[in-house]
Amino acid sequence: MRRVLDTSALLSGRQFPGELLTVPEVLGELSRQGVTPQLEAILETQVRVASAGRPARARALAAAESTGDAHRLSPTDLALVALALEEEAVLVTDDYSIQNVGKALGIPFEPVMERGIREQWRWSYRCSGCGKVWPEWHDDCPTCGAVLRTARPGISQGRGSGRGR
Ligand SMILES: [Zn+2]
Repeated sequence: MRRVLDTSALLSGRQFPGELLTVPEVLGELSRQGVTPQLEAILETQVRVASAGRPARARALAAAESTGDAHRLSPTDLALVALALEEEAVLVTDDYSIQNVGKALGIPFEPVMERGIREQWRWSYRCSGCGKVWPEWHDDCPTCGAVLRTARPGISQGRGSGRGR
């Protein structure tokens, strides 16, 4: 699957699977904010930079005008929408206006922080003495008084996520 990443997606530090693309305008925004060596390595090795052609750009602009988002979208945003349209890619963004225009064009999108929202981490605490696992933190183990350590987190699914998509 191809993904078109916006600036916040690239700055998130998340690893995205599949073929990754972005637009030159995003590289410009990133260089203004300062790029870490890690991000620079990702940009050089994993992300293809491309621009959509005129027809896709025109369709993106027309869709933005029809949904009323045109004035909220930057040239970078429109370039991202156009590239996702042309490449038939998933658009990775948390920007509602971009998502809205993407929807109007039938472009699938993913929020940048999707995992954080869908899967809630639930930490647990294991006693270094008796080994009992506690779902909540205690200064000392209520059973034996030894120190608790943070255990590998489990994933509790479906808690607090009313988002069905
Ligand atoms: Zn204990």
